[in-house]
Amino acid sequence: MQVFGDKNNSAYIEVDNKLIIIDCGFTVFNEIKKRFDLKSYNSINIIITHLHNDHAGSLSQVILYAYYIYGKKVTVISKCKEIKKYLEITGVDANIYNLKEDMDNLEFIKTEHVKGIDSYGFKIKIKDKNIMYTGDTNTLQPFMPYLNNVDEFYVDVSKAGGVHLKIEDIIEVLKTIKKKGIDIYVMHLDDKAYIKNITKGEFFI
Ligand SMILES: [Zn+2]
Ligand SMILES: [Zn+2]
Repeated sequence: MQVFGDKNNSAYIEVDNKLIIIDCGFTVFNEIKKRFDLKSYNSINIIITHLHNDHAGSLSQVILYAYYIYGKKVTVISKCKEIKKYLEITGVDANIYNLKEDMDNLEFIKTEHVKGIDSYGFKIKIKDKNIMYTGDTNTLQPFMPYLNNVDEFYVDVSKAGGVHLKIEDIIEVLKTIKKKGIDIYVMHLDDKAYIKNITKGEFFI
């Protein structure tokens, strides 16, 4: 899995000529234009964990761009209750994209983040690697039952806590998980220097 950089929390996977983008925040459209030749993929898939702007803010634009410039229908994979409505009110006709609640080798894991927005992490198997991704979350609980069969774990952490996991609250848990042989990567850092310091640089890509 590759991350797009320090801007919105987003990542992507390229496998067998298939592009899988994980979340599509407001900075991601420009990254997509820069990095990918969209016409070269057999399929373009975007997993959406929740509808905050830093996760879905350029989704409409990417769908419109892929369709009208390259004639490609993006497949959106999401369980967010309002996603269809969200795309509709931002001018995306339901005929120009596919919407699915699941994908092969993917399992959504419902989590808690903020009131009023349903949020999901997920587990995905790519080749023989099991990857788990929390999305934005304020709890690790829903993910714990899956840890026996995970190779890489991407975890939302913050300095402040609240709607995100607070690094100080979970650092010991993360260390224990790492001892099981799972690679941990932290993401969505509100204060990178602070989190790097407290984790002594562990868990960074
Ligand atoms: Zn969020
Ligand atoms: Zn976020």
